[in-house]
Amino acid sequence: MTSAANLCRQTNLILFTMAPEKMMFIDPHIHMTSRTTDDYARMQEAGIVAIIEPSFWLGQPRTEIGSFKDYFSSLLGWERFRASQFGIKHYCTIGLNSKEANNEALAEQVMELLPLFVLKEGVVGVGEIGYDDQTAAEDKYYRLQLDLAKEVGLPVQIHTPHRDKKAGTIRSMKVAMEHGIKPHMVIVDHNNEETVKDTLDGGFWAAFTIYPNSKMGNERMVEIVKQYGTERIIVNSSADWGVSDPLSVPKTASLMLERGIPAEDVRMVCYQNALDAFGQSGQMNESDWLQPANVDQRDKFQDNSVLRGGQTPVVGEFKTRNELKENIVK
Ligand SMILES: [Zn+2]
Repeated sequence: MTSAANLCRQTNLILFTMAPEKMMFIDPHIHMTSRTTDDYARMQEAGIVAIIEPSFWLGQPRTEIGSFKDYFSSLLGWERFRASQFGIKHYCTIGLNSKEANNEALAEQVMELLPLFVLKEGVVGVGEIGYDDQTAAEDKYYRLQLDLAKEVGLPVQIHTPHRDKKAGTIRSMKVAMEHGIKPHMVIVDHNNEETVKDTLDGGFWAAFTIYPNSKMGNERMVEIVKQYGTERIIVNSSADWGVSDPLSVPKTASLMLERGIPAEDVRMVCYQNALDAFGQSGQMNESDWLQPANVDQRDKFQDNSVLRGGQTPVVGEFKTRNELKENIVK
């Protein structure tokens, strides 16, 4: 193990010893389709009870409408099943991401597909949508999807650009308002110190992505909460195929506690606010996970299980979350 990995491991151990056993977390932005079952087990161990997987691009552009259809179907099918095998509730948001909005011929077809998916069970918003390079095509499909969200009464999950972030974030909010979307129905993602004030002042939800090395670090997140409080602030990992950490939410929670932020405030930004924001869809309720579901890893989804040869499946009716955790993480 490299010394950096070793240090990382030690830090994780220290952080986890700080986390209260009974604390529950929601990660409202994570791309599990790029992650492994090991991640699901570690997330269960760390207290993550529910996650939201936004539709995004896959690292390389799709060339056929069928790829979008299968991707959306996998978020509603296989990923939800896979999460359930580790006792985690999986929800998703459905949308055309900004990067691929620039392929207009394909974008037109995706727009026809979206109404077939947004009203399915477990879809808690239209997302992640917004701007990347802030092109005319991105603007066009962002606006069309805002209209769709308004029509079906779902929250909007906005991806804000990495370049020219402040202007792009302000533009995203302004355009949402132009389309008659109420700020309380909009979760503005990937905020930082430059954008948080405008987002909160506008009445929007301000989500923060905690990456290990870039964007917001969890030290910076602690300072944001100290400065702005907890109202409408949400922490997520946005973990995907790149360098990212599916345990960002519980780790940030631990650091907040260590730095003296009250447990109730930590609960708001790492659990309750995400539930309140996306719960407006009517598709996500605390009762979905308070009573742990039975787990039977012998179950199959369309003939596939998460098990590999020689593995002993976890099977059981668990009365408490701790009992579930102990069995999933052996
Ligand atoms: Zn994302």
